[in-house]
Amino acid sequence: MDAHTYIPAEFIADVQSYIPQHLTIADYIESCQRPLRPALRVNTLKTTVAEFQAYADEHSWTLTPIPWCPDGFWFERPLAQQTLSIGNTDIHLSGGIYIQEASSMLPVFALQHQTNLTDCCVLDMAAAPGSKTSQLAAAMDNSGFLIANELSSSRLKSLSANMQRLGVANTALSHFDGAIFGSYMEQCFDHILLDAPCSGEGTVRKDPNALKNWSIESNQHIAEVQKQLIESAFYALKTGGTLVYSTCTLTPLENQQVCQHLLEMFADHIDVLPLDTLFEGAEQVVTDEGYLHVWPQVHDTEGFFIAKFKKLGHTPHPNPQAKKGAFPFSDFSSKESQAFMKTLTDQFGISHLAGNLAIRDKELWLFPEQSTDLKEKIKFSRLGILIGQTHRTGVRLCHEFATALGHLATKNHYELSTLEACDYFQGKDIKLPHPTSQQGEVLLTLCGNVIGLGKWQKNKIKNSLPRDLVRDNQLITWE
Ligand code: SAM
Repeated sequence: MDAHTYIPAEFIADVQSYIPQHLTIADYIESCQRPLRPALRVNTLKTTVAEFQAYADEHSWTLTPIPWCPDGFWFERPLAQQTLSIGNTDIHLSGGIYIQEASSMLPVFALQHQTNLTDCCVLDMAAAPGSKTSQLAAAMDNSGFLIANELSSSRLKSLSANMQRLGVANTALSHFDGAIFGSYMEQCFDHILLDAPCSGEGTVRKDPNALKNWSIESNQHIAEVQKQLIESAFYALKTGGTLVYSTCTLTPLENQQVCQHLLEMFADHIDVLPLDTLFEGAEQVVTDEGYLHVWPQVHDTEGFFIAKFKKLGHTPHPNPQAKKGAFPFSDFSSKESQAFMKTLTDQFGISHLAGNLAIRDKELWLFPEQSTDLKEKIKFSRLGILIGQTHRTGVRLCHEFATALGHLATKNHYELSTLEACDYFQGKDIKLPHPTSQQGEVLLTLCGNVIGLGKWQKNKIKNSLPRDLVRDNQLITWE
């Protein structure tokens, strides 16, 4: 129980004005002061749920399935292991899991409900740090094209690092106010997630100071931003496409009223897709409109709001825009591509890469195939995967090649022990127990997941981890 949770009286008075009749304010306050149950999502781009369950069993973790996410679990670790932060465990460092609050798994689950997201074009309009981007990429099985947009530069960096660790390969990152998508990318997306910036009223169980700067005026101000973003999203959606709007706040100002604004603005062209049957128990948090208003005391989670819409027809944007400036990449010539693919086949047994190889200066990139028609609509901070740097006699592979595409290799892996993995993440070379005659690059794996590249040398594997990813804190072992 965290008695220090700050809950101002004006906020309580406001909640009292809209809390549903079947819930009590006392239960709500009590739930706000209870610590949050730790939850994680298995990253199915790297591992399977069954493999993760075997890992959890071996490490005596207790798992409770999250009813609305087949890949999600509440978890408890034995006390002795808790001196090691979950972020420094081997399964996390190797990209096998993502720490994500249970209710935050709902928006993507709602988007994929009764819909196959593979091979689609999807926009995640407010994406950092990337919980839902990575969940979307997993739901899309790394196919199609996913644009993850984020306004804040510092948060864009963590988004990018997370996508690399998790092996996300079908994504472009962009750095704009989400309000531009409606005018620059009109009718481009099959599905859009707008997990909107919000006042975060639902997050007090994680952050006892979340309500420190709470005011109705600030709710109203954020609601105006949300209205611009949701309008933009609707213009950017194709007819027949679906939009999920979500927040981690409770006030109807930022939830039902933002949705109402959208319904009024596009009255003839929009349907609400009710979420009352999304999972067993959804009926306890559904609103009259068919949205989910997740109160923390009902499913023992954070507070969340999720709404889903279908676009039935298009109203042209009043002020369409087109990007200026040339696209700074050129195709990798077919002769160079053939030579590169032969090296990959010889070295790793990889005979095919899905997507298009493109070159900029000396950098070799792999673009998702479905990005072809969209890649010149806006400027991207990153598009696809950085494969390597070209040089006189070939291509020097990059770390991201390994984390995103290394699983395609059928040979030339080296599974690191726990101690070797600690050395690897600390930037040290891996000493080999016996001299080797192997040469060239090798894919390093941990928990069976590819985590990076090394270079065979006589008595060691030379570490190729980029300097900015080197860590020197306690890793992997808790003894
Ligand atoms: N979807 C993210 C996830 O699951 O990890 C969380 C997104 S958080 C609720 C909202 C994000 O929107 C923040 O990272 C914030 O920096 C970003 N943001 C704020 N204003 C924005 C705008 N006008 N356009 C796009 N992103 C914005």
